[in-house]
Amino acid sequence: MHTTISTSFLKKLSAAALVTGLVLCSEANAQTQETVPTPPKMRPEMTEFWEPEIKVITPGNGTTTAPSDAIILFGGKDLAEWKGKDGEAKWKVQNGTFTVAKGTGDISTKREFGDYQLHIEWQIPTDIQGKSQARGNSGIFMQSRYELQVLDSYNNRTYSNGQAGSIYKQHPPLVNAMRKPGDWNVYDVIYTAPRFKEDGSVFTPARITVLHNGVLVQNNSEIKGPTEYIGLPSYKAHSKAPITLQDHGDPSKPISYRNIWLREL
Ligand code: MG
Repeated sequence: MHTTISTSFLKKLSAAALVTGLVLCSEANAQTQETVPTPPKMRPEMTEFWEPEIKVITPGNGTTTAPSDAIILFGGKDLAEWKGKDGEAKWKVQNGTFTVAKGTGDISTKREFGDYQLHIEWQIPTDIQGKSQARGNSGIFMQSRYELQVLDSYNNRTYSNGQAGSIYKQHPPLVNAMRKPGDWNVYDVIYTAPRFKEDGSVFTPARITVLHNGVLVQNNSEIKGPTEYIGLPSYKAHSKAPITLQDHGDPSKPISYRNIWLREL
C-alpha cells in the first residue's frame, strides 16, 4: 500500500522545521553569549609599545654635516672610500669637492650596499657647453646597475626620461627642479634593493624615491631592471653592490661632486 503525502503537508512540515531551527539557533546563541567573556575596555596604553627603544642619533644640518650614524663616502678630503675600474679612483679632489677625470672610467664605492638613504651633491660648471645628453652628463648607479641621471637640465631640453632626476630611460622626474650651472644640486635618495627568488627570478623589483633640491622627483618609483641605453631592461639576480658614479665621456666640461653620505636601512 502506497501513502500519498500532500504538498500542503510538506509545506507545513518545512515551516515547522524552520521554526524549530530558529529556536535551536537562538538558544545556541544565548548559550554562546553566556560563555564568551566581555572584552576589556580599550585604554590608551593598550596600543602603545615601548620596546625596542629607538636609537638616538644627531641629525646633520641638512648641508655640510651628515647624521651621526651615516657612512661618509666623501667628506671633502680624499677618495679613500672609492675605487676605479683598475684600482685607485683617479678623479680629481680639490677644495672639498671632486671632479670627474674624463677618460679614467667610472668610480665605485669599495663598500657594497643593499637598502639605503643616500645624500649626494653635484655641480655643473658655469662654463658648460653642449646640448641634450652631451651637457654635463654623469650618473649615480644604485648597486652599479640602476642609473639616477645627472645632467645639466637647466634650459637644456632632452628626452624627458633622460633628464636630471630621471631613472634613465625608465621614469622621467615629476618636475624639473634643476639649479643653474655653478650652483650645487642635491639629491636625497631612498633606495630599496630588488629581492630575488632562489631560481633567480624577481621577487620584488627595486624601488627609489628621489628629492632633487628638496623637491620630490621620484615617488617610490619601481625600477624595471638595469639601465640600458638601447633596449628594454631585464633583471638578473644579484646581491649587495657598490654605488657607481659615471664617467660619461661626453665632450662637455666635467662635473663635480661633494658631501656624499649614506645610511644603511
Ligand atoms: Mg648619465
